[in-house]
Amino acid sequence: MILIGNKFVRYRGRFAPSPTGSMHSGSLVAAMGSYLDAKSNHGEWLVRIDDLDPPRVVPGASKKILTTLEKLGMEWDGEVVYQSQRTALYQEALVSLGELDQIYPCICTRKEIAGASVMGMNGPIYPGTCRSCHAIREKACAWRVKTRDDLIAFQDTISGSVSQRLSREVGDFVLQRADGVYAYQLAVVVDDNEQNITHIVRGADLQDSTPRQIYLQQLLGYPMPTYMHLPIVTNSAGEKLSKQTRAAPVDLSNGLGQLVTALRFLGQQPPEGLSNSDIPSFWQWAIENWQPNKVPRKI
Ligand code: GLU
Repeated sequence: MILIGNKFVRYRGRFAPSPTGSMHSGSLVAAMGSYLDAKSNHGEWLVRIDDLDPPRVVPGASKKILTTLEKLGMEWDGEVVYQSQRTALYQEALVSLGELDQIYPCICTRKEIAGASVMGMNGPIYPGTCRSCHAIREKACAWRVKTRDDLIAFQDTISGSVSQRLSREVGDFVLQRADGVYAYQLAVVVDDNEQNITHIVRGADLQDSTPRQIYLQQLLGYPMPTYMHLPIVTNSAGEKLSKQTRAAPVDLSNGLGQLVTALRFLGQQPPEGLSNSDIPSFWQWAIENWQPNKVPRKI
């Protein structure tokens, strides 16, 4: 149990892979960090498949990811949840934001936005063209949330204090695309709240998205979880491992070796003998000796 405000609640963590391909050493690090932090706090660890964006989903990838987790001895609690089956929840949240007058339809094309905006940390900062125009839209439109200039800040367990001014650094961001697909930023906030997630442990590539998620939590009246952003595994060209950078899948013929390598990457110091043990002994040692303060701070 952990104390949040004046209430004791059970630690609930999660791993939320996108089924765009097999697990590789980068996603293994994210899975391991979230698993160890949950288990060392006697918490629950849930798995949620981020399969909201149909063109990015690779058939069979979810199944492969789950089999890999199983073979590596990472047991999740409860049923696996699929974002593609939860669109009614995202719709409900979007309607609530509409009732609060915090969203507006946008019909700008990518080209129009690129031509009229300055670059922010995650692409062009939307110049707000559609924010003040209340014309009835006949064609499909995206929905954006109105951002503000207040400082949004949080304490990351690894990076320390992180803050952003959304309107200046990111701009009004999309919650639902013109093709109807809900944006990751909205879905993740709704799901983490609906699943009572208390701790989010994930890759540092998502640290810049966290203020957007905290802002949505504030608008929707959700509690803020604790955040820990883990260093990212890169290839020799310094690129994040992903399907695009052709990351090699986790080699299950040497599962234990891959686990030990991932644990070392997370700054932990397993004894030499652990590499010759077995998967249950690996997890027993790793859970008992997990020290988040040893995880390197590297983005
Ligand atoms: N699905 C995201 C990814 O694979 C992670 C989402 C999250 O942990 O919030 O990068």
